[in-house]
Amino acid sequence: MKISHSPRKVLILIGILSILLCIPVIGLKLLLEPTFIVPNSSVHFPIEFNATQAYENIRTQLDFGYRVPGTVEHNACADWIRDELFLVTEEVVTHNFSLLDAENNPIFCQNILGKINTNYSNIIIISAHWDSRAIAEKDTVNQDQPIPGANDGGSGVAVVLELARVFNRNKAEFNSQIWFLFFDAEDQGSGGIADWGWAEGATEFRANIESFYDSATEQFSFLLLLDMVGGHDLKFIDERYSNNELQDAFFQEGRELGYLRAFPKFPEANWISDDHVPFRNLMPTLDLIINFYNPSSGWDYHHTHQDNLDNIDENSLEITGSTVESFIYTYHGKTTWNQNYLKWIIIGSVGGVAILGAAVAVVFFKRKRKLT
Ligand SMILES: [Zn+2]
Repeated sequence: MKISHSPRKVLILIGILSILLCIPVIGLKLLLEPTFIVPNSSVHFPIEFNATQAYENIRTQLDFGYRVPGTVEHNACADWIRDELFLVTEEVVTHNFSLLDAENNPIFCQNILGKINTNYSNIIIISAHWDSRAIAEKDTVNQDQPIPGANDGGSGVAVVLELARVFNRNKAEFNSQIWFLFFDAEDQGSGGIADWGWAEGATEFRANIESFYDSATEQFSFLLLLDMVGGHDLKFIDERYSNNELQDAFFQEGRELGYLRAFPKFPEANWISDDHVPFRNLMPTLDLIINFYNPSSGWDYHHTHQDNLDNIDENSLEITGSTVESFIYTYHGKTTWNQNYLKWIIIGSVGGVAILGAAVAVVFFKRKRKLT
């Protein structure tokens, strides 16, 4: 039997097939958009987050020098974070731990935690890592020397500290406990400090979390992690270890504040092993992070000596801080976040069918050419 469709007919067939496949994808996307029942707060407070103060918080950290575990500069910065937290939280806790260096000497590390509204049983965590990287492996010079870490480390700490000030001022207005949590030893993986992994401090904290709350009476709502939130032209990615329902709601909050570029409707996706990962089995988590891994993304100073104040944009601090502030007022007390696996199973299946359809069309087209 001779099949005699023209190439044009095959193209029309592919076109129709593609359109037919688009309809269920779009329909399901609309159907599966997160539906959040009723925001707790009907009042949207004027945003009080002060980006200039956050910028100064980065400068202060850089003034201490490199915050590399095992150095006096590192300890001095820890004291400053603690002092700041004493001013704006009800309870400050230090989690001390040690990690071994290449010569098996213990390196003293510390996670630092400030709590407000400790009378409430549900807990929101806002976090960042406060250590800075011991090496500059992506630089062309002095690769074995530490980086300033203005964005990588410094920006997250700066915003979380400023948020502690803001939320402490307004803590009567929401019914959640908030933890401001600063992780040590995040940024020394892949040779930063020999044999250390990424997110060592967060892993240690997660292993000991029972010491910091009463699991019989307290529950975690969610964890936000701020990592590299101060660079120019801020654009957050779809971080795939994060809870996608929480992420969708957070991005929506950002867009409602007018930050359309920072919170794109269709963000680039990637899996980032960061401080939130150890907590995923305990609560929904969200890593607010950028595409730092691609040198052409505009953040080519990542893990170089150029990660300094020149590459910090106060506007990005404003976007991040304001969105977290607004988000907490909208969703405090909620514990309804689900990982929406169904959405990805359906999108994956439909995508698979589309690829299969295209493959069948290609085979069909090639066979037809042979026959003619
Ligand atoms: Zn880093």
